[in-house]
Amino acid sequence: MSSVSEYFSGLFGGIKSLLTGMRVTWGELWTKKITEQYPENRATLVIPDRFRGELVMPHDDNNEHACTACGICQMNCPNGTIQVISKTIETEEGKKKKILDRYIYDLGLCTFCNLCVITCPSDAIVFANTFENAIYTRSKLVEQLNHEGSKLREKKKEPKPVVSQPVAKAEAAVHGDNSKPEGTPQTPVEPIPAQDIKEDSGIHPEQNYPKDVTTKTVPPSKTEADIDPKKDKE
Ligand code: SF4
Ligand code: SF4
Repeated sequence: MSSVSEYFSGLFGGIKSLLTGMRVTWGELWTKKITEQYPENRATLVIPDRFRGELVMPHDDNNEHACTACGICQMNCPNGTIQVISKTIETEEGKKKKILDRYIYDLGLCTFCNLCVITCPSDAIVFANTFENAIYTRSKLVEQLNHEGSKLREKKKEPKPVVSQPVAKAEAAVHGDNSKPEGTPQTPVEPIPAQDIKEDSGIHPEQNYPKDVTTKTVPPSKTEADIDPKKDKE
């Protein structure tokens, strides 16, 4: 009797399991497909910008890059993927300067950890989202990232900030007019009208001296009692 009940419970269990599987299959049959038909869809394929395909060194239209050959990326690379080869040149002023000669990157060793990009102080390297890097020879995975004849992009010198007139007047009021040669009698500076003073000029609107002029408090000199407590008792 027990064998007959076991037979039927097993039979119904199998049918239930089959129906569960069929329900999942039927549901998946009608969901939207996400499979990419690569390489047939190469023309329309969208690769996310943040995908790390290979390391590159961007150059501008003047064939200039931002790498100073400091070697920080090479030091931070955990598996020796980067080789920064520098050379020393003499500038027009006669100073010696280290510049980048060759920046060698071995794509075959790279783990795409991004440490080199994060630690570069000049933002000279980035990851490109190219991905079709498969080739038959490993040696072809070793690349020079700086272009032939490229050079370091010179930083533009920022002009000195122009001191606004109220501040210049205030400085003259506090320190005297230093623009005149030594020995020239100082002419008294007229107080600046409050309406002429801008909020961010650093000058108190009711007084013609800067807000941040501080005065030092000179500590009182020590008495003999401070130096020798016994004398105080006597
Ligand atoms: S890529 Fe950046 S970290 Fe590497 S050598 Fe050039 S400036 Fe230095
Ligand atoms: S991504 Fe990582 S492994 Fe690749 S070169 Fe940069 S630091 Fe080295």
